[in-house]
Amino acid sequence: MNLVLIILSSLVSHVASVGTSVITLLDDDMSGHPLCQAEDLLACQKAQVDVDGVLNNDPIIFPYELTLEKTMDYEDGSGTRVMELKTTEGNSSMALITITDEKIVTVSIDTSHGLDFNLLNCGPGFYLWRTVNETFYDHFDLNPKGLNQTDSNRKLDPALTQLMEESRQSSQQATITIKLYYTPALQDSQLNVRATLANNIARTNMIMRNTNIPLTIQGICPELIPVSEIGSAPAILNRTVLQFNNLDELYDGADLAMLVTLGCAFQRVCGMAATINVINPLYNYYGVPVRLAWTIALMNPFSVFTHELGHLLGGLHNRETINCRGNCPSTALGFLVQGLPYHTVMAYENSKHPFPIDYFSTPTLGYNDGANPIGTPVDDVRSTILSTRFPISRLGNDQCQRGCFNRDTWSTCWDWRQSGYCQHTYVSYMRANCALVCGFC
Ligand SMILES: [Zn+2]
Repeated sequence: MNLVLIILSSLVSHVASVGTSVITLLDDDMSGHPLCQAEDLLACQKAQVDVDGVLNNDPIIFPYELTLEKTMDYEDGSGTRVMELKTTEGNSSMALITITDEKIVTVSIDTSHGLDFNLLNCGPGFYLWRTVNETFYDHFDLNPKGLNQTDSNRKLDPALTQLMEESRQSSQQATITIKLYYTPALQDSQLNVRATLANNIARTNMIMRNTNIPLTIQGICPELIPVSEIGSAPAILNRTVLQFNNLDELYDGADLAMLVTLGCAFQRVCGMAATINVINPLYNYYGVPVRLAWTIALMNPFSVFTHELGHLLGGLHNRETINCRGNCPSTALGFLVQGLPYHTVMAYENSKHPFPIDYFSTPTLGYNDGANPIGTPVDDVRSTILSTRFPISRLGNDQCQRGCFNRDTWSTCWDWRQSGYCQHTYVSYMRANCALVCGFC
């Protein structure tokens, strides 16, 4: 396996290319838009999207003559079209396009060296093209201290141990469902919540496939939940749990649950999850074995959604972060790729390894014909997820219990919501036909 990542300058230095961009940048001043105010943004421009061009062209030309070709193009089973792309030079610069059944396009492009791009929908026909400074981030997650994080501390019962071993050795595809919750702040940000969630799920599945993990993640029954984003990370998670009478109600039939917010918490913590407690009640998070994680909706270039889900699936940070040195009993550790400036999904970046790659750690893949592996036999999150995927996929019945959805299309309901119909005049109609977008569930 030879992964070669390329630098942006080699993309933008091309002399005129043939064809036109599927995204047209407009001159409107977007500086007042909430999604243009993130500190990591280098540019934020209003854009028009040629959806048919995205669907039909290959290669696809983006702004700044960034030209990428499709490597995969499929429907994900829930009506979302997913396209994965790489540069036309044959290298593996990552890009992902998702198109919902209402033709809402979301694009994320990871050039691997300094600059990333994304295209976000902010209402009917309204798109933003954002240029993201990849080297901006310093801290994006908090894994609660005080949890027993090592294999030796896991008191698994023999039946579970056996199922995990069976799971690890099997090549059978498993499906894990995640009940999705999102906050009023995210809903009010103008970001198209449904398209953004679909993009996060597709990216997670791309990372599973990149890493050869036979696991499909399926987000189910997205639901607005009246949780404030103000305060510390544990406060946000606890507030979410407290919305429900019991944890079964929170999971709503899914195997796992995820809260998705617009912003980060106090001290720039932007996601949180407990590790491994999901299949072992002896592992507690503040007294309960909760299968809930929290992530922000957007944070290029990091896959925060996938990182937090990775914790629920048993993954830990890299050994340098845990500070266990030569005495790390777990094999579920993320990895800093030796000799290269990359870190895997579960590892924390540092000055020598600032750039994330869309892989979990595994000794079975590497750069330069394997000379720079992306894991070792004892830094192998892939192996951990292989083991936990069967038991975790059996936790829920994968059927939403509350049935919160819009009968009308999202964009129609959204327009009506913007006109105030969730609050007055047509409340009973909206309750029956646009329950999700109004937050009536
Ligand atoms: Zn983490």
